Amino acid sequence: ASLRQLLRIVIVGHVDHGKSTLVGRLFHDTGSLPEGKFEAIKKMCERRGMPFEWAFLMDAMQAERDQGITIDTAQIWFKTEKRDYTIIDAPGHKEFLKNMITGAAQADAAVLVIDATEGVQEQSRRHGYLLHLLGVRQIAVAVNKMDAVGYREDVFAEIETEYRAYLSSIGVTPTYVVPVSAREGDNIANRSTSMDWYDGPTVVGSLDSFQLPTAHLDRPLRLPVQDVYKFDTRRIIAGRIESGRLHVGDELIFSPSNKTARVKSIEVWPEPSNADGQPNTVSAGQCIGITLDEQIFVERGDIASHLKNPPVETEVFRARIFWLGRNALEKGKTYKMKLATADARVTVQEIEHVLDTTDLSSSTTTKVERNQVGEVVLRSRRLLPLDEHTRNGRTGRFVLIDGYDIAGGGIISMEGYADQRQL
Ligand code: GDP
Repeated sequence: ASLRQLLRIVIVGHVDHGKSTLVGRLFHDTGSLPEGKFEAIKKMCERRGMPFEWAFLMDAMQAERDQGITIDTAQIWFKTEKRDYTIIDAPGHKEFLKNMITGAAQADAAVLVIDATEGVQEQSRRHGYLLHLLGVRQIAVAVNKMDAVGYREDVFAEIETEYRAYLSSIGVTPTYVVPVSAREGDNIANRSTSMDWYDGPTVVGSLDSFQLPTAHLDRPLRLPVQDVYKFDTRRIIAGRIESGRLHVGDELIFSPSNKTARVKSIEVWPEPSNADGQPNTVSAGQCIGITLDEQIFVERGDIASHLKNPPVETEVFRARIFWLGRNALEKGKTYKMKLATADARVTVQEIEHVLDTTDLSSSTTTKVERNQVGEVVLRSRRLLPLDEHTRNGRTGRFVLIDGYDIAGGGIISMEGYADQRQL
């Protein structure tokens, strides 16, 4: 079998705008459903005397995923002629925003759903903003329920204009805006015969035109240390390569201790090793273990990189934070921060300004309320290895924890803050 490409997508948008219906349709219309699934659910609805909903398909796939029945137990996926797609979070999942900001959901592309009968809502704006903040640049907007507005071009055009204006004000150019009816199957995988006035691609056509993420392969190496396992005298340093490539013999620097050593061996798991034994090179996305040629002190939270291109080390940095906490983020308060595999405590030194993501009004206050975005300066008591978000999306973002709750997600901008190692 040839290797298939995989693109990870998120489906976002206001509640009830038709995300689950769209997912059910995507599965069905691309022929990705397991044999007999569609019929089984239709029958189940008849037996219970309730109308069939496309969303039930997604629920059923979701349930199987949770029970680990499907082949790919981690995620639900569908396929087109071009490639495979993974939907990385269930639409409507209550932890959805949290998963997005924690990076549990690392999306390559997004479908943003807007109900044509309701138009652009607060959530449509907020989700658009969040996608932008998190660096998801490939966005298809599906204007759904076109059947409910008589497939009228003027209704679509008005929503398209309004939403494009919002997105462009935050610096986003949506790749496509597609009029669809998820319920009727118009412009999902099959071209609609009810909207002759539209000549752009279907939702599936839009997705197929998106690029695979390759950038992180070509970026400098970042290997955040997850764990250090001790076997007799050997130490195996385990983690996931977030960007770049690593070879046996490479000289690595571990930040923030700045100790160096060479890679003696690489072990990849969980895949069993093949006949050739272990690889000499591994790259972004792989979970690996390495041994070093010297015993140096390494601990969870360190970031390994190449000498010529290490992360920044700093105690102070500027960040843009999307706040979800019940209690506002406040100047002077200290939060727990998770960045890659590191835990730290950071204090809010400055709140430079606050942005409302729905109307983009900005203000200067000492608090960032829920659903607002704050431009802040954070200070840690110890040196932290990190990257500017534009240089590395994986080590350039973090999560803040208030008490036991994930309360915010942020991206790092170093503007005006020097790398303290170089001072
Ligand atoms: P979600 O909360 O965004 O996942 O929305 P759902 O997929 O659960 O859909 C919400 C409601 O809208 C359900 O009653 C659907 O049947 C209905 N709906 C979804 N898509 C369409 C559509 O294309 N046309 C019409 N008329 N109704 C739809």
